[in-house]
Amino acid sequence: MVFSHIAESYFDEFPFRRKDSRRKSSQYFFLSHAHSDHLSGIKYSLSDPDVIIVCSDETSSVIRFLCNIPKEKCLIVNPNQSLDFDDFIVHAIDANHCVGSLMYVIESKTGLKEIYTGDFRMGDSMRKERDLLQGADQLWLDNTYGADSRFDFPSREEMISQIVTLILSSGNFPERDIWIASYQIGKELLLRTVSQALKVKITASELKERIYKEIGGEWDIFTSEGGTGVYVDSRRVVENLHGISEDNKIKLIEALRISPTGWSLKLRKKAFNVHFFPYSDHCSYSEIQEFINLARAKRINYL
Ligand SMILES: [Zn+2]
Repeated sequence: MVFSHIAESYFDEFPFRRKDSRRKSSQYFFLSHAHSDHLSGIKYSLSDPDVIIVCSDETSSVIRFLCNIPKEKCLIVNPNQSLDFDDFIVHAIDANHCVGSLMYVIESKTGLKEIYTGDFRMGDSMRKERDLLQGADQLWLDNTYGADSRFDFPSREEMISQIVTLILSSGNFPERDIWIASYQIGKELLLRTVSQALKVKITASELKERIYKEIGGEWDIFTSEGGTGVYVDSRRVVENLHGISEDNKIKLIEALRISPTGWSLKLRKKAFNVHFFPYSDHCSYSEIQEFINLARAKRINYL
């Protein structure tokens, strides 16, 4: 997606099939998080033993399962850590997006500064790093919802509170199954809170269970064994009942179905009987403005 001229390196892009681009790059490829739209071409990095992928510990666990990238190929940097390369320094900040997500601040030894946000949601991890983030020469900014003031949704904490209240209201859990829509990776704050509030693990695919078990600690909240009464699956399944058996369709129709997505503010036609909440792992309109005001970059490129 981005080539930094300070680091002479790619961020969230692995252009191994384009030889001209590849030649410009150093051996380091920086990965902000493990959503599939940021992993394009990553498997081809295996063909070059000199290539090193810089990412967080959690992201290295995810790409091990999703892309067969061995941990030895990753150089780990975690939030609030810096890596000193000969000509530049890279600082990592928690991007507050999905598990393991980072934004990077790249500084040259000659005083130039670039920021690559990856996908992010404004939060205290960035407010605390005001001095580090301020005055960049170049800012690459996650702009998922564009400059559309309709996407001025509440905080995730507020949304979580509303969703848990709905789940615990009379006649719902445990009387009815709960289905929550999510990508393979993401929406963890909501899912962890639901798991803790109901004191059950969340039924998920075997792959999802393995990924989060590997990450471990507070994120080991999924099981593939079933029978917990709380399920997570894609929006296609939860909203539209796509790709599932007739028996499961009946179960889903009777269940409480929840779709947490910022896009719900703009969906023209909402799936019947699904509860939509504008819960997002990206910045709201106000939060993007807050970040732009905080960074005061000379040039902004919208991702
Ligand atoms: Zn993402």
